[in-house]
Amino acid sequence: MIESTDDGKTQPSVGDVNCHLICTVCKGYLVDATTITECLHSFCRSCVVPHVAEFHQCPSCSVPLSTTKPFSQLRRDYTLQSIVYKMVPRLARNELDRRKQFRQERFAGASKMNNFVEDSKAEECYLQSFFAPNDPISINCEFGLRANLGKDDLSESGSQQQQHRRFFRCPADLPIGHLVKFLRNKFNVTDPATHKLEILYNGRPLAPEYKLSDVAYIFSWKEREPLRLWYRISPTIK
Ligand SMILES: [Zn+2]
Ligand SMILES: [Zn+2]
Repeated sequence: MIESTDDGKTQPSVGDVNCHLICTVCKGYLVDATTITECLHSFCRSCVVPHVAEFHQCPSCSVPLSTTKPFSQLRRDYTLQSIVYKMVPRLARNELDRRKQFRQERFAGASKMNNFVEDSKAEECYLQSFFAPNDPISINCEFGLRANLGKDDLSESGSQQQQHRRFFRCPADLPIGHLVKFLRNKFNVTDPATHKLEILYNGRPLAPEYKLSDVAYIFSWKEREPLRLWYRISPTIK
């Protein structure tokens, strides 16, 4: 417990609990703390997600995680994060300021954006994005034929393909699976027995349990432009 008690015990200093508030991957204070349910080690979500996606194990103790659904063993740790923010209020304030400032500039117009893109090092720090569950992520979802991602049974003209480009603004916590469901309904291919609908980033199919923020973390997406996803629909091979 970190609250002071009736017998006059005071709060522990940051130093006392520091090691529990630090992410062992980036050595910084935890941001968007995420705990591996197998071993209870905690990391920043942006640190643990790319590691787990690639190695299917804990970055600290290497406990093996499911190779098919490693993300099912990650839990957002709101309690731990609130402790970090309580103990290191400056961190919470910085993070909120950073987001506010970034979003103001993001929507202030392209010219301002271009000036600021010139200093690439500052940009990298500035744009290192962390997402709270309800932070909006803009996505641009395009039909897969344009990227030559695979042969489809749907052959269409350019203008028809254009119609298949969709812009969304979704909460960072939205699972890819929900997007799949939405597109299945939209294009009337709701039956997985007849059609496969995949969502891809840079040609890589995304697991339905990935959240948009996970995709951003895994592929180091910066908020400069909408997250560009592709979808492809193919008949299910019997
Ligand atoms: Zn970290
Ligand atoms: Zn571990």
